[in-house]
Amino acid sequence: MSPWELFSLPFLQRALIAAFFTGLAAPAVGTFLVQRRLSLMGDGIGHVAVTGVALGLLTGTSPIWTAVLVAIAGAVTIEIVRERGTTNGDVALALLFYGGLAGGILLSGIGGESAVTLQSYLFGSITTLSPADVLVTMALAATVLIACLGLAPQLFAVAQDQEFARVSGLRVRAYNVLVAVLAAVSVTVAMRTVGLLLVSALMVVPVATAQQVTRSFRTTIYAAMGLGVLASVGGLVIATFASYRATVAPGPAIVLTALACYLLAWPVGLWLRRRARLREPFPEIEALTHEPIDEHPHEHGPRCGHLAVPHEDHVDYVHDGHRHAAHGAHYDEH
Ligand SMILES: [Zn+2]
Ligand SMILES: [Zn+2]
Ligand SMILES: [Zn+2]
Repeated sequence: MSPWELFSLPFLQRALIAAFFTGLAAPAVGTFLVQRRLSLMGDGIGHVAVTGVALGLLTGTSPIWTAVLVAIAGAVTIEIVRERGTTNGDVALALLFYGGLAGGILLSGIGGESAVTLQSYLFGSITTLSPADVLVTMALAATVLIACLGLAPQLFAVAQDQEFARVSGLRVRAYNVLVAVLAAVSVTVAMRTVGLLLVSALMVVPVATAQQVTRSFRTTIYAAMGLGVLASVGGLVIATFASYRATVAPGPAIVLTALACYLLAWPVGLWLRRRARLREPFPEIEALTHEPIDEHPHEHGPRCGHLAVPHEDHVDYVHDGHRHAAHGAHYDEH
């Protein structure tokens, strides 16, 4: 059987579908975590979810549902501890993470589950998915994607500047908890693909890669989703081909593919940032929204006396505390 013929096997087709959806969903949530400097939150949720998997194995129910529930409970706890912001906060999180991992391993031992079963959740087991597993993966991933993309403006605003979002009337805490819950669901989606111990990599590395070459939130989240799919499907294909010569687990292959993309993007990002610095004497203000305003009494021009900032293909003017540019018949705020 040639390597390509392998992909006509149903179990590999299921794996490809699951990899595709995991690659889309994990970086979508990851974008908001990275922006809030919570890159390791997915890792923490992953550790807590081990207990959820063990509970499922112990009680003979589907580990994916017990993992979802325990992961959500863990994520909300993490968010509450984090929000309190006390000096002991990181100790509390550490206790939660170690407790989750140790508790899970202990419980699965009591349940008499072989180490192999738990290991398949710790390091992923994408080639053993049943058709029902794939459907659950797709449904959970779709939920995450709809929430992330549908609420992107609000989530971006909260991730960017909590204080400003609060002042402008956004329910910051509700959105923070929502991101935590979505992260928990993503962890559960990704646990079959890359495993609970490597989950965070798929949520964070594609985002870090995208940030090398993109500037706005919007392009970052889409680029991260594209890179996530590239890494998870590419890693699975690489692992399949490599398996002819040695045992190559798809989970680690996916994570290493994501890291390889980062290493390739890094010099490009360095070059882009250097070029941007040379072209522009002012620090780039992140374009959060691009709201058109129609009425502008004054017409900006090269000699109007306002500070002119070259920006991509046009010139912005700083005026009364805003920075904007004429785009056709209207002004775009930055
Ligand atoms: Zn002017
Ligand atoms: Zn501009
Ligand atoms: Zn103006």
